[in-house]
Amino acid sequence: MEKNSSIGCTVNNCQYHAQSEDYCTLNKIEVGTHESNPTQVECTDCTSFVCKAEACDCK
Ligand code: SF4
Repeated sequence: MEKNSSIGCTVNNCQYHAQSEDYCTLNKIEVGTHESNPTQVECTDCTSFVCKAEACDCK
C-alpha cells in the first residue's frame, strides 16, 4: 500500500501501517478519545486502527 506522507504513524501493528516507513496508508484517519475530558496526549487514539492479523490474537 502507498504511504500517505501527510499521516506519520509508528504503530506498525496496524494493518494500515506502511511498514517500510513510519506512515499510514489511508487517505484519511479518524482520531478520537477514550476519555470524557481529554487533557493529555495519552488520552487520544487513532480510531481507524485495525490490528494486523499476524501481530494480534484478534483474528
Ligand atoms: S490507521 Fe491509525 S494506527 Fe493505523 S497506521 Fe493509520 S494512523 Fe497508524
